Amino acid sequence: MIGVLALQGGVEEHMSALKKLGVEAKEVRTPEQLDGLKGLIIPGGESTTLRKLIGRFGLREKIIAEHKQGMALFGTCAGAIVLSKKIDGEKEFIPALEITAKRNSYGAQLDSFEAMLKIKGLEKEFPAVFIRAPEFLPPTNGVEVLAEFNKKPVLVKDGNVMLCSFHPELSQDLRIHELFLKIAKVY
Ligand code: GLN
Repeated sequence: MIGVLALQGGVEEHMSALKKLGVEAKEVRTPEQLDGLKGLIIPGGESTTLRKLIGRFGLREKIIAEHKQGMALFGTCAGAIVLSKKIDGEKEFIPALEITAKRNSYGAQLDSFEAMLKIKGLEKEFPAVFIRAPEFLPPTNGVEVLAEFNKKPVLVKDGNVMLCSFHPELSQDLRIHELFLKIAKVY
């Protein structure tokens, strides 16, 4: 069973992608709903609000605990910021992947845009939608960079954690969700 954190952001789109891929999925709002999940998707939105809501709903410790027990994590955009080990200028929240995220790092002109990305392991390019996206600083350790935009990492993976600065749930292309399902070992 894969969970989609349903506090904010593109919850329905992630749920629909998972359904199309034929896996069992549920929306998560309470700590108990995290019990025994194979993987959790944390959607985009606004990371300050997302942090507040995760705290208010008592989910932070439980996400950390389930992750320690093997639950895979996939953060998209604001969800990726929340799961980064370091956040430029802010305190980290759930430091699940050893990377530094910089919020809103694409200026006004590039606030929102779509770009075709070459993704490691995928044959054809992926149409990626960026919305006030964060950037990741180049990792210096075992973190794998699966895609770059303008020579900057935008999709990274380490063990069973994957972070992406764009919104794969907004493209009619399921290949990145599929990648996560493989990481979570449900596919
Ligand atoms: N700019 C938002 C933040 O910093 C993220 C935007 C998004 O998730 N689309 O939290």
